[in-house]
Amino acid sequence: MRLILTTSRGIEDFARAEVERLLSDLGVPFRVEEKPLGVEGRVLTEVDRAFYTDEKGRKRELSVSTYLNERSRLLHRVIVEIASERFEGIGEDEPERALRRIKEFVASLPVERFVKVSESFAVRSFRRGEHKITSVDIAKTVGKAIFERLERFGTPKVNLDHPAVIFRAELIGEVFFLGIDTTGDSSLHKRPWRVYDHPAHLKASIANALIELAEPDGGPFIDPFCGSGTIPIELALRGYGGKIIGLEKFRKHLNGAKMNALSAGVLEGIEFILGDATRLSDYVESVDFAVSNLPYGLKIGRKSAIPKLYMDFFGELAKVLEKRGVFITTEKRAIERAIEENGFEVKHHRLIGHGGLMVHTYVIG
Ligand code: SAM
Repeated sequence: MRLILTTSRGIEDFARAEVERLLSDLGVPFRVEEKPLGVEGRVLTEVDRAFYTDEKGRKRELSVSTYLNERSRLLHRVIVEIASERFEGIGEDEPERALRRIKEFVASLPVERFVKVSESFAVRSFRRGEHKITSVDIAKTVGKAIFERLERFGTPKVNLDHPAVIFRAELIGEVFFLGIDTTGDSSLHKRPWRVYDHPAHLKASIANALIELAEPDGGPFIDPFCGSGTIPIELALRGYGGKIIGLEKFRKHLNGAKMNALSAGVLEGIEFILGDATRLSDYVESVDFAVSNLPYGLKIGRKSAIPKLYMDFFGELAKVLEKRGVFITTEKRAIERAIEENGFEVKHHRLIGHGGLMVHTYVIG
């Protein structure tokens, strides 16, 4: 079986490592590939069937896709691949030709192997890149091709709201993927614990990638701009043994973070402090790790205040940080100045896709 796994762009290496670890634990032969056909934000795994013995001693098949949906912290979706294809030049194709190419391709695929004709289905689509067609065009065209194919075997049923089976059709640049989406309509990064929705919250998958970049070893850890608590909560859910602190200036968000932590079952494991990160040393004497999604000024506050906020914060951070800091922001100039002028060194930089933007991420020490 081949699974197409989706995640944010720029964290495919962490997603790959996680999938390798999870599949190794299953003890089945597998291989994992980052960015199949060069597509960012995608990881492909080819994995053998896995089995377990039930309480009556019978051999049962274990669903690898369910296992990954349940266990992953970095993936967004787990899709059973039906086919992947490169459509050279599809970006320049007029809509009619582009859609005809997709339709002919899908019509040739044995989709009947993946869905019973008696089961209702829907097609969800995703598109990224320059094309003259929209994702709605793709969903309609693929839906029609699947319907016509299934008609050979009975009377297919479409249910756009509550389908039994979700086909996922993706056109990313010139690459087209078709598969069965085992995750469902809600991406895995939308955590069930999120009862308070901060307007600028970080995707939980990216929070986990930032934690991986920090490599926390059990020492004290702080998110000094914790908002709704995504980073501290995800760290606590990983069973972190050390002290975890979340600092936030606005009571409304801090209360929201506490509600989220309560809903995640980790409130006891996090110390939440109402305070100003530009006075960090008033609240903590020393921390080993600081990981944060900094205010960008786009959604929160005035953008002109960002350079001073960063400068003041990194000045304070220099007084308390012992090991590593990991920060994500769109404000490249402001953060790089604040890092340099406060005596930190950039150990690693990468771009991560978040909310349609590629956001700068720094590991400093
Ligand atoms: N990672 C968070 C989450 O997932 O909910 C979102 C963080 S948001 C980008 C930045 C947060 O920094 C906001 O909640 C904002 O209220 C807070 N903030 C802004 N200025 C602050 C300051 N001086 N000290 C502490 N927090 C501040």
